[in-house]
Amino acid sequence: MTSATREQVNAELTQVFVEYDTLPLAKMSSLHIGGMADIVASPTTVIELKDCIRIARQYKIPFRVIGRGSNLLFNDAGYRGMIIRTYKMKEMEVFQDAGLIRADAGVPLIHLAMTACRCGLGDFSFATGIPGSVGGAVYMNAGAFGGDIASVLLNVTVFDTATRQTYVLSRDELEMSYRHSNLMAHRNRVVLEARFKLSPAPAEELLARAEEYRARRDERQPLDYPSAGSAFLSHDGVSIGKLLDEAGLKGYTVGGAQISPKHAGFIVNLGDATAADIRALIAFAQKTVEEKYGFVPQTEMEFVPERE
Ligand SMILES: Cc1cc2nc3c(=O)[nH]c(=O)nc-3n(C[C@H](O)[C@H](O)[C@H](O)COP(=O)(O)OP(=O)(O)OC[C@H]3O[C@@H](n4cnc5c(N)ncnc54)[C@H](O)[C@@H]3O)c2cc1C
Repeated sequence: MTSATREQVNAELTQVFVEYDTLPLAKMSSLHIGGMADIVASPTTVIELKDCIRIARQYKIPFRVIGRGSNLLFNDAGYRGMIIRTYKMKEMEVFQDAGLIRADAGVPLIHLAMTACRCGLGDFSFATGIPGSVGGAVYMNAGAFGGDIASVLLNVTVFDTATRQTYVLSRDELEMSYRHSNLMAHRNRVVLEARFKLSPAPAEELLARAEEYRARRDERQPLDYPSAGSAFLSHDGVSIGKLLDEAGLKGYTVGGAQISPKHAGFIVNLGDATAADIRALIAFAQKTVEEKYGFVPQTEMEFVPERE
């Protein structure tokens, strides 16, 4: 993108009150990795989000909507186009009697799940330690401790960036399964908000369960280092971390990227890791598992290329 185009696009964003900034993508990723994007826009409402997409399409700029960047590996060279962050879209409504919660796409999942527990609406305790947004969690059907988004979701409102139509999709229409929804195959559908249907349950029980899960995460996961959570999807129910541990890869390091000595399913940034380090380490882990167990583990984290 030329600097003239960037200035024009930024002026258009200002006109519709959308904030933009020039922070490196590393600041928007839980892995703390990534170069500069041409433009980073942070809408606060659905209208502003749609304006960002309209402007990106008008100037024929590639764009990508992200949540809290907790499952993404950005490129060292950054992103040529507009990154649209939803983190400022964070309105939420609780309809306690009806057992319903409506949440904007940018609501932090931890906040939503803790609120549900405190209100005696269960069972969202599985999500009280997942650092994503509602949109990102629906997109990949985030889950833990036997629960997942599919088990609590009623429906989502999506905006189709190709047709510019807004419509509601039920949980079933999203065809959710283990760390999957069909939004992954329909990248033109952006989640604007989601509604969750929950049954009443004693708040103290839900909060006690959330606390137990938090303690288990603290004990097992390397939460003091930047990561994207589990690097690999389980294979037929088998944890890849367990296989990497058996293969002796705990602590294996490439540049600043390391297979965590605490939990081999996590790839952590020791401080100065590049995206190239992480990818090289992933490739090495995949090759090791393939040679020893006969299949190539698939990554759970998503790579964002410099150019779409
Ligand atoms: C310490 C740690 C622990 C974790 N533990 C878990 C866990 O227990 N279980 C689990 O499932 N995950 C876990 N994760 C991974 C991550 O938090 C989840 O995958 C989460 O759902 C990602 O949400 P996000 O908002 O950060 O999405 P991002 O990383 O920002 O984006 C991920 C994908 O979602 C898409 N997306 C984001 N918002 C929207 C939207 N509004 N509409 C359409 N698409 C959208 C993006 O385009 C991208 O393709 C963990 C991560 C960390 C760092």
